[in-house]
Amino acid sequence: MRKPFLAGNWKMNMNSATAVNLAAGLAKELAEIRTVDAAVCPPFVYLQSVSAALSASDIAVGAQDVYFEGNGAFTGEISCEMLKDCGCRYVIIGHSERRHVLGETDALINRKIKAAIGRGLLPIFCVGELLEERDGGQTNAVVADQVRKGLAGISSDQVKTITVAYEPVWAIGTGRTATPEQAQEVHAMIRGLLGELYDPAVADGLRIQYGGSAKPGNTAELMAQPDVDGLLIGGASLKVEDFSAMIKTVAEKQK
Ligand code: PEP
Repeated sequence: MRKPFLAGNWKMNMNSATAVNLAAGLAKELAEIRTVDAAVCPPFVYLQSVSAALSASDIAVGAQDVYFEGNGAFTGEISCEMLKDCGCRYVIIGHSERRHVLGETDALINRKIKAAIGRGLLPIFCVGELLEERDGGQTNAVVADQVRKGLAGISSDQVKTITVAYEPVWAIGTGRTATPEQAQEVHAMIRGLLGELYDPAVADGLRIQYGGSAKPGNTAELMAQPDVDGLLIGGASLKVEDFSAMIKTVAEKQK
């Protein structure tokens, strides 16, 4: 039985006051929730203050990216140890904005995933196709290629620490959500591939989140799909009411 996992990706939003307010508001709203894992991923500069605001809460903290080197002359980069020092448990790796806006390759993403696992962070590994790739019937091929390359050289024991996030690029921040059936189809393909790369029992234990314009109004139908184990949420995670409503909706179904 996979425990649902909802994570908020705050992207390049918030300031020092609003970040702490959002975290404190979520801690209050979600104090009774035990059946759903929740995490927030603030910008690097607010990780420490958000971690402090969540110290008495079960809500975990994650970063939006990491560099694979341990330390040294890498101006502007942040290491795994630094993230752990700031209270991080999770780290998003390979988000589509990093792939397509900032030019990250599958090889770089693979190095980051290996570094994160090696240093005790739990990766949220993002994959997803562009609109033209979906329209061209290439969705499964593109996503499978990203999964294979992102996980190259990662052992069966190591992969157990990963959450995969399927995020069709055309659905991110556009208000155009994948239908529950579209999400399920790709999630099932990913789980099948993980079963081939590792073994079916390992694949069965891995959580696969959906991301792309998820909001309170579509949470229940997305989460009703058998292979959708959680959500990676951008815009709707910036409001206490929306993010907590989504988590409560999922918790309600667990009863
Ligand atoms: C995301 O950035 O991972 C995301 C899914 O964003 P949104 O929910 O705003 O589409």
